Amino acid sequence: MSEPKKLFVKTYGCQMNVYDSERMAEALGAKGYVPTDRADDADMILLNTCHIREKAAEKVYSELGRFKPLREANPDLKIGVAGCVAQAEGAEIMRRQPMVDLVVGPQTYHRLPEMMERVEAGEAALDTDFPEEDKFAHLPKARKAPRGPTAFLTVQEGCDKFCAFCVVPYTRGAEVSRPVERLLREAQDLVARGVREITLLGQNVNAYHGEGPNGREWGLARLIWELAEVDGLDRIRFTTSHPNDMDDDLIAAHGTCEKLMPYLHLPVQAGSDRILKAMNRKHTADDYIRLIERIRAARPDLLLSGDFIVGFPGEGEADFQATLDLVETVGYGQAYSFKYSARPGTPAAERDPVPTEGADQRLQRLQELLSRQQRAAQDAMVGREVSVLFEKPGRLAGQTVGKSEYLHAVHVTGPETLRGQIAKVRIVASEANSLAGELI
Ligand code: SF4
Repeated sequence: MSEPKKLFVKTYGCQMNVYDSERMAEALGAKGYVPTDRADDADMILLNTCHIREKAAEKVYSELGRFKPLREANPDLKIGVAGCVAQAEGAEIMRRQPMVDLVVGPQTYHRLPEMMERVEAGEAALDTDFPEEDKFAHLPKARKAPRGPTAFLTVQEGCDKFCAFCVVPYTRGAEVSRPVERLLREAQDLVARGVREITLLGQNVNAYHGEGPNGREWGLARLIWELAEVDGLDRIRFTTSHPNDMDDDLIAAHGTCEKLMPYLHLPVQAGSDRILKAMNRKHTADDYIRLIERIRAARPDLLLSGDFIVGFPGEGEADFQATLDLVETVGYGQAYSFKYSARPGTPAAERDPVPTEGADQRLQRLQELLSRQQRAAQDAMVGREVSVLFEKPGRLAGQTVGKSEYLHAVHVTGPETLRGQIAKVRIVASEANSLAGELI
């Protein structure tokens, strides 16, 4: 009996790429590939790439360069590139790096088994279509054993918003929502394998509009209520959302659905109406602030997370000040902030960028404010009781770590048997990036 072939997958970027890497490993599992976490031990190396930041494509080429010695040592080693850079660059990857055997986009990775047959027959395989067929219908139904009590579940893909700085509509295509029944089955399968918390994923997840069992269109709130009926599924989260798709049902669900966690990632990107317009975000700063007020009225203890871009073309000091003012007004428990980077093919890429030095200074000022707020939100947990889903051992002996309902990392002194369990914890201290607690 021949040795199973080994697959090394390296994942960049968002949670959806993490989910896709798991599904690609399962698809190749059907071809006899078993995972390895060492590139020098692999028969196949697959890079699952991200195209969001500047020089994303260049990073892929330099990473591929690092695998050249492995290929020279083992001429049978197969190398593939997947994800958003594969979708954006396509055949250019094989032209620039001839040792690449396979290039597959995010919408066609269900075809990996037959692509591998061509590669094993000595051909190159390239597929960056936006196919009619639903890839999920062609992926292995039974998912591999999850690694811990939390899992991602893609419910929606693509985006129709066309924000002026974003490549997603071009690399992931139009919004597609998966049917409710398939999602229920996948969720039940994950729970049967030990998962207690599922994060619903989509580039624009709150625009979910999947076909329900009754043939009607279901929104995200209705899907969440249905998933909340799944025995053994104790926690539900979702990401990433657009302010314009936070409908009344979803806001109400934050107030009344116990299994929906009090954490919301709701990017705003900027605080200036002039820049929000230039970004094509289709809402004003005031719209966003009033929306947050409505969400907090439904769930006062909700922890809010946001995304910000500084240095967007045309951003002046007054525009940037408006972003700082919005952050002061709203208050964030978690946030991600970046300097604008021009993405090929996006409308904003043609516009004059803000000088780097100015953008760097603004990013620093914004991050100082955001980390002050983040620390204050974490410190405010001291003395409170939270529910923690324990996931893995901590850094210190006898320590176990998990996440609270607010997605804060919490560690306690407790037995290994805690892993996979949800337990009540009193927070006793706030540390650099986590909370210390004691089991109640
Ligand atoms: S809503 Fe998000 S994914 Fe869609 S275009 Fe805008 S930034 Fe990109």
